[in-house]
Order: sequence, then structure tokens, then C-alpha cells
Amino acid sequence: MTSLRRAFAALCLATMPLATQAAEPPRFEVVALGVGGGVASDNLSGYLIRAAGDDHYLALDAGTLVTGIDKARATGALKGTTGYILHQGIAAYFISHGHLDHVAGLVIASPEDHGDKLVYGLPSTLDVISRDYFNWEAWPNLADRGKAPALGWYHLTDEAPGAWFAVQGTSMSAQLWPLSHDAVVSSMILLRAGGDYYAYFGDTGPDALSHGKHDLAEVWQALAPLVRSHALKGIQIEVSFPNDVPDAKLFGHLTPTWLLRELQVLAEASGGKDALRGLTVVVDHIKPSLDAGRDPRALVRAQLATGNTLGVRFVEPAQGERLVFP
Ligand SMILES: [Zn+2]
Repeated sequence: MTSLRRAFAALCLATMPLATQAAEPPRFEVVALGVGGGVASDNLSGYLIRAAGDDHYLALDAGTLVTGIDKARATGALKGTTGYILHQGIAAYFISHGHLDHVAGLVIASPEDHGDKLVYGLPSTLDVISRDYFNWEAWPNLADRGKAPALGWYHLTDEAPGAWFAVQGTSMSAQLWPLSHDAVVSSMILLRAGGDYYAYFGDTGPDALSHGKHDLAEVWQALAPLVRSHALKGIQIEVSFPNDVPDAKLFGHLTPTWLLRELQVLAEASGGKDALRGLTVVVDHIKPSLDAGRDPRALVRAQLATGNTLGVRFVEPAQGERLVFP
């Protein structure tokens, strides 16, 4: 009896650290449904994010949706049937701005999405979605406003900049921040789960090319305390073009040099040049090139590595890849 009890105690001790490890899920998990910045319609901006302990995802843009779910199922990043993931897995959507390459997947899949979901965005973004897509001309009006009859499958949910709101069907809360993206107002969503944060940026240009606007400067000020306290688990932001694309041709996008300059501003606001050391920065929206022999992804990766004096951990996800943020 005694030896049995001793053996049982030893077994418990031996398995406890393993059990503790296994029970510690990542603070955030991101699945890339589409990563490209254009040209190929089966690989446009779309991501799913969920927090530790959540069963359901928030979609971060939906340029490519069903095709991306299939790609992520093929890599094992998503489990279950495509229909299950679309209907039950995705609890709600966030759309950063109204450009087609961020909403096409949502619109095309909408008749199969079985409705009653919230779509979050800045009022100006949701105006575009209502006016230009769900208008009975470009597509049937499955939204809950705009041209009658509004079928109401999607609840377009305006969120004012800077105000916290609960993300439907998840444990996360969020706030939106406007970004300057050429002639369009784009946005960043700051997600919070417990004491952890993740910042997902829609398309954005650098402040220096944004005609006197300082949207990124304001965002960096807001994120700086979270960097300082190590509560910010990741930043996801675009680099659309390699450095050889001139400023006049960026049209509200970033290059490696411009992203590094902007991150320098965040570092300074967060306590100095070492403040971002080890921070994960997910780089997305790299525009593919149709020019033979030109590989923008390789160029962007090399240029970010060369200029990375901040010690940031850059990640360029592939379509279908699952990223975890401990
Ligand atoms: Zn855009």
C-alpha cells in the first residue's frame, strides 16, 4: 500500500510539469488565410485570430476567405470542415478599410456564411461596404443597412476610434485607431485578452508621406506603454513594396525603410533603442510582382534584416501558416 502510494506520488510529480506545459496555450494564435498585397485573388489579406482559451476566431480582414480556410486546413493550421470553420469557427469580422483586396472573400462567401454575425469597422469603412458592395447591384444586400431590402445577415457595427468594445463570441475586447492610406481612412485594431495585447494594422503609409497627418505617431504613443510592460505580444503591419519603389509610387503603403523608421518612433516612445528587442513584428501585404525574376518577398525580407538595428523579430507568414504568440 505504502509503496503503491509512493509510486503514485512519484508518477504525479513526474507528469505535473508536462501537464502544466501542455495546459499553457499561446496568448494569441493567428492563422494566415491570405498574405499577399494584391494581384492573385486566391491570396489576399485575411487572418484569423483567437486568444488563449477561445474556441472562436475574429477574422482580421477577409480578402481571401474560403480558399484560405482550405489552405490552412491542408497545413493543419485549422481543424474541421470548411463549412464548420466558416460558420462556427469565425465569430465575427473586422475590416480595416474598404479596399476590395480586404473584403472580397467576405462578400463572395457571404451567401454561405449563415448570417447573424457582426462586422466591425470604422464608420467610414462600413459606409463603403454598405454603399459599394452590399447594394443589390454589386451583390445582394446581406447587410443590415443600405438599399432595401436589407437582409440583415451581417450587422455592420460602427466603432468609434479609441473606444473599447467586446468582440462578439470571443473573450477579446478591442479598440480601433484610424490610419492614413492614400485617399482612404484605414484602421488598426488593438486586441486585448486579459492583460495581453495584439495590434493588427490595415494598410498604411508612413506619417512623413501622409500630407500632414500623424496617425501612426498617435498609434505609437498608445502602444508604447504596452511595449514597456511587455504586454504587447505582437504587431502585424504591412510592407507592400521593396525599397526600390519610389515614395511617389507608394500610394499609402510602407517599404522596409519606412517601416523601420516608424518602428524607431515606437522604440523612442517606449524607452529607447532596445525597447523593441525581441518583439514579434508580423510583416504582411507584400505585393507580388509579375516581372520575371523579381521576388518582392525575398527583397523585403533581406532589406528588413539589413536595417534591423532594433532587434525586432520579423516574421513573414506564408498562406495557411499558423503563428503563435506565447
Ligand atoms: Zn488598401
